[in-house]
Amino acid sequence: MAAATPAGPSWADGASDHQVREEIRQLCADDHDYADGTVFNSICSEPFPLAREVFAEHFGANMGDHRIFPSLPRVTTLVTRMLGDLLGAPDAGGVPTSGATEANLLAVLAAVRDARGTGRPRVLLARNAHFSFEKILALLPVEPVWVDLDARFRADTAVFRAALATRPALAVLTSGTSECGAVDDIETLAPYAASVGVPLHVDGASGGFLVPFAREFGHPVSGTGFEIEGVESVSVDPHKYGGAPIPSGYLLVRDPARLEALRSPSHYRGAADHFGLLGTRPGAALLATYAVLRQQGRAGYRAAAREIFRLRSVTLDLLERAGLPVAFAPDLMVVGVSCPDPAAVQREMERRGLIVSVSRRFGFVRLVIQLHQTDAQLASLVDHLAEAVKETSA
Ligand SMILES: *Cc1c(COP(=O)(O)O)cnc(C)c1O
Repeated sequence: MAAATPAGPSWADGASDHQVREEIRQLCADDHDYADGTVFNSICSEPFPLAREVFAEHFGANMGDHRIFPSLPRVTTLVTRMLGDLLGAPDAGGVPTSGATEANLLAVLAAVRDARGTGRPRVLLARNAHFSFEKILALLPVEPVWVDLDARFRADTAVFRAALATRPALAVLTSGTSECGAVDDIETLAPYAASVGVPLHVDGASGGFLVPFAREFGHPVSGTGFEIEGVESVSVDPHKYGGAPIPSGYLLVRDPARLEALRSPSHYRGAADHFGLLGTRPGAALLATYAVLRQQGRAGYRAAAREIFRLRSVTLDLLERAGLPVAFAPDLMVVGVSCPDPAAVQREMERRGLIVSVSRRFGFVRLVIQLHQTDAQLASLVDHLAEAVKETSA
């Protein structure tokens, strides 16, 4: 439930800039700063500095109007090419979105439109699918087919494979689940999906910027991108591990012609058709996404991924030394800690000013590794965590 909103001052006569600034300062007084060493639950992080500058400079740019802002379709082409290259297909088609919720929705919508008139198309999902799919299932006329997880919180490969054989209209796997950071066995399942004619969508919102480099650093997770036969579309969120500002998501499709299923023709002569769900939306986010992708290059994201894996191993070492058991062997950026009363631990950590989360379903304390964390902050986190576990286990 949302906190009660204070009634606030009268709105009738407006207020001075000074007054408004002061009010904003007070309203945000309890907000955390990614840099302050208190945020261990967030898949998002502080955007890279260049993103902030570009966003501010173009903050009125509207993605919904390509006639006023002809830069935006041009920049879309350039960003699509860079993200496509990151994910194994520089010639992929792409749609900038508000995030992976919208990108996932577009992937399902395309399947619905393809299945025109043949009843409710079946969509194959694993129980680790992001909860955006629960929203999507409530919005679109599809029949979900759920597959259970294995011991590492990945889609059960054998069960998923058997379900693919029943030829659903679309299958969805995840590269980097938000709950556990699990990477499904896409390399085994995608070629099989192709062999039975089922398009596979990969939700790479979180894994998209990490998995392409994981193996190089000795972490043997399944690939994610178009280099795998059968992967037909991928969602990726530059506003998670890409250093881009919110809102920055993307849907990539192997075959740009697939985007036709998403076209909404404009009512106005000379205006661009829409392919995403939203109309008016910040072009600044796309320009800032271009800026950070261009600035970092593949090399920059490789270094960022290396740092994430390094911070993760620092965390795992600290937990081991503190005698705190991990809940599973991590694939990517989420570390789970087992303890007798996770809800009480979360409350105790909050009392200490530290934000961690708890998986309701799996009952572990969930730590998300992000670039804003330092070794010293992680050491302090684990000290507090050990105390909180002790205090709440009595
Ligand atoms: C964050 C996330 C989403 C939802 O993306 P938004 O950008 O919040 O809309 C979907 N899937 C996964 C795996 C995610 O981590």
